[in-house]
Amino acid sequence: MTKLRQLFSTRQTPQSQPMPGSSQVANSAGGYAWAVDDWMQLDRFLVLGSEGGTYYIQPPKLTRENAEAVRRCLQTDGRRVVARVVEVSENGRAPRNDPALFVLAMAAGLGDEATRQAAIAALPRVARTGTHLFHFMEFVEGFRGWGRALRRGVANWYTGMDAERLAYQAVKYQQRDGWSHRDALRLAHPQAPTAVHNQLFHWMTQGWEAGAGSQRNLPTAAPDDSALQTIWAFEQAKQATSVGDVQRLVEGYGLPWEAIPTQWLAEADVWRTLLPHLPLNALLRNLARLTANGVLTPLGAETELVAARLTDAEQLRRARVHPVAVLAALLTYRHGRGVRGGLAWNPVTAVVDALDQAFYRAFQNVEPTGKRLVLALDVSGSMSMGMVAGVPGLTPRVASAAMALVTATTEQQRQPTIIGFSHQMVRLNISPRQRLDDAVEAVSGLPFGATDVAQPMLWALANGVPADAFVVYTDSETWVGNIHPAQALQTYRQQTGIPAKLVVVGMVANRFSVADPHDAGMLDVVGFDTAVPALIADFIRE
Ligand code: CA
Repeated sequence: MTKLRQLFSTRQTPQSQPMPGSSQVANSAGGYAWAVDDWMQLDRFLVLGSEGGTYYIQPPKLTRENAEAVRRCLQTDGRRVVARVVEVSENGRAPRNDPALFVLAMAAGLGDEATRQAAIAALPRVARTGTHLFHFMEFVEGFRGWGRALRRGVANWYTGMDAERLAYQAVKYQQRDGWSHRDALRLAHPQAPTAVHNQLFHWMTQGWEAGAGSQRNLPTAAPDDSALQTIWAFEQAKQATSVGDVQRLVEGYGLPWEAIPTQWLAEADVWRTLLPHLPLNALLRNLARLTANGVLTPLGAETELVAARLTDAEQLRRARVHPVAVLAALLTYRHGRGVRGGLAWNPVTAVVDALDQAFYRAFQNVEPTGKRLVLALDVSGSMSMGMVAGVPGLTPRVASAAMALVTATTEQQRQPTIIGFSHQMVRLNISPRQRLDDAVEAVSGLPFGATDVAQPMLWALANGVPADAFVVYTDSETWVGNIHPAQALQTYRQQTGIPAKLVVVGMVANRFSVADPHDAGMLDVVGFDTAVPALIADFIRE
């Protein structure tokens, strides 16, 4: 009897076999899990991207699998795909906008007529900068030719924008991916809606001379129109002969840092002038430079300004600063040297602390649940390979530690239990009282192990830990355990009488999940979607 039960039971099945009667599929690790549906796969792709691959799946294959899922979504409901892309992109829910632009390009090329129209109409909402536009143009050529509708879509990008914003875009992002505004305008031939647009289009395609009349040389006085002033200032900056010249142009005409000739960017005083107006994402990318050149010092007024801007939740939201961008900046900045060498600086503690706070504030507001939570981090070997959202050093393991701390920090009145597991329980030294980089350090050094995602539930059962919900951060590549995670949860529920829930936070864009899609007490979410901590809390509270 005992032997037969070991050989076949619907309550305890080794992870190397599918649960009887379930729709489980083989994962990449030799175990069985569920395949998420194509819409969840679309979300994972939009948020996590595929460029980093996973421990098991190389980037080209992972990208292909995701693109196939997108294609199936497009066949089922193309306009829903476009709506999802707009929602994720406009709300800044994903670390990078590239997957959104890629899916939009697929929709513009492979969708039915209504979908293609919707995709092209959504272009200005998803491609909000010149760089975004160029990326889209590069992507879309992989899926279709330059028909009339698509050219008109690109033309609308230029004509729908007010002249001031367009001028700013033109000096800020001149070219990317082999595309420039000149190329785009020559392809799309927009009808200028205003005389100023007309002059801007001229300048973008032929330079200043043809746009501003017959004079070959720049006018010495600024034009009256503020959009034209921007390009005038941009041209003036090329001829600047002193720091003071550059400062006057930045102060007078709001030139972005990208529009300033490289030789002036070595000057600390130029950066002091730029600092109050620097968009937050640009600030994040330039913290090292600002410290190396002496603008940011331990007790400096500039440091205070930067810290205040970085921790302003409203500014973070408006600038669509993603927590991953903050985390990436923090992980680089604290080291005092760049990934590719070269630049070195002494990290200013106040800046590191501000980044630590900014990370939490960049997520959507979360209401604490007050429930008993077990946050379980998969720290197995596969979680230490690949990179989330294409960020170097941001492995799924590091990313999960950061995500767990978001929930742990929110749940103030009842501290969640944070545990680690691979094929066995792994002692973790992280807590919400730590600074983020210390927590990252703590998980980075752990030894590698095999994977058994049932461990958190088995551990809670064995140790009498009451849990209203288990939140598991994993790639769902579970294979080594002798009971499936879903079965372990069922057992936990039966033996404790607690209707415990399971939230699976997917940390890579593969197809798998250990959450049973037929169990309403289990939920799949995508790691590093800024809405996810709130979604987790809502699900657990219900
Ligand atoms: Ca693993």
